[in-house]
Amino acid sequence: METEKAILKTRGLTRSFSGFVAVNDVNFAVKEGSIHALIGPNGAGKSTLFNLLTRFLSPSSGQIFYDGSEITHASPANLARQGLVRSFQISSVFPHLSVLENVRIALQSRHGETMDFWLSDRRLKKYDDEVMALLADIGLETYAKRIAVELPYGRKRALELATTLAMNPRVILLDEPMAGMGQEDIQRTAALIQKVAKGRTVLMVEHNLSVVADISDMITVLRRGEIIAEGTYDIVSANPEVRQAYIGG
Ligand code: ADP
Ligand code: MG
Repeated sequence: METEKAILKTRGLTRSFSGFVAVNDVNFAVKEGSIHALIGPNGAGKSTLFNLLTRFLSPSSGQIFYDGSEITHASPANLARQGLVRSFQISSVFPHLSVLENVRIALQSRHGETMDFWLSDRRLKKYDDEVMALLADIGLETYAKRIAVELPYGRKRALELATTLAMNPRVILLDEPMAGMGQEDIQRTAALIQKVAKGRTVLMVEHNLSVVADISDMITVLRRGEIIAEGTYDIVSANPEVRQAYIGG
């Protein structure tokens, strides 16, 4: 961890669905520069909390702060411009464009250019050094000319991460980045997350506890909408309530 500053914070955050409280009075802080994991059994409220933080859902009550400012009512697009970016949404990738074109479009949109497919070659070239540097960073340079839809699953997720990085985020939010991956892709993605976390903050929801143990600086455990434990893996995994939650649901 680089600093002790909370880059993302909630106060009394609550969300109900027709009377059912999915996230209940959550006070939660993510330290700048950390890799922070959100874990808990199915139905614990992880995705709901994640959707509240990225403003894909509105809270029933409570507040959210990003970099010291209240963002409880901000739009996801506005947050993305401020550097709070959610990744691993298949929808962020254009399936029939190449890897290079996908990342170039993400860069163009960050620089405020319209997604103009008819730009002159000279203007397109201006981005390509930056695109290739980014692809090299993510280990995708040999896939640059490949069409996104044809990529193997793990590489597709890496491309989603590349389009996210093209937006130059300060905080990256990942919902189950390893979901559906085989062992090799899991290890590769874990290494990638550690790499992109340098100089940034990562908050991830993840089921794979051995990966969480390996790469997280801080873990928050949710159960039935409430935080039941927080700390390093050793601390939370020794907590009887956490053990019970994972056995008893
Ligand atoms: P997790 O991601 O930890 O598995 P979720 O946040 O998806 O849990 O869900 C928490 C609880 O809230 C679950 O009981 C779920 O059924 C309920 N829930 C989530 N989203 C909705 C919704 N849109 N409408 C009604 N209930 C919901
Ligand atoms: Mg979920």
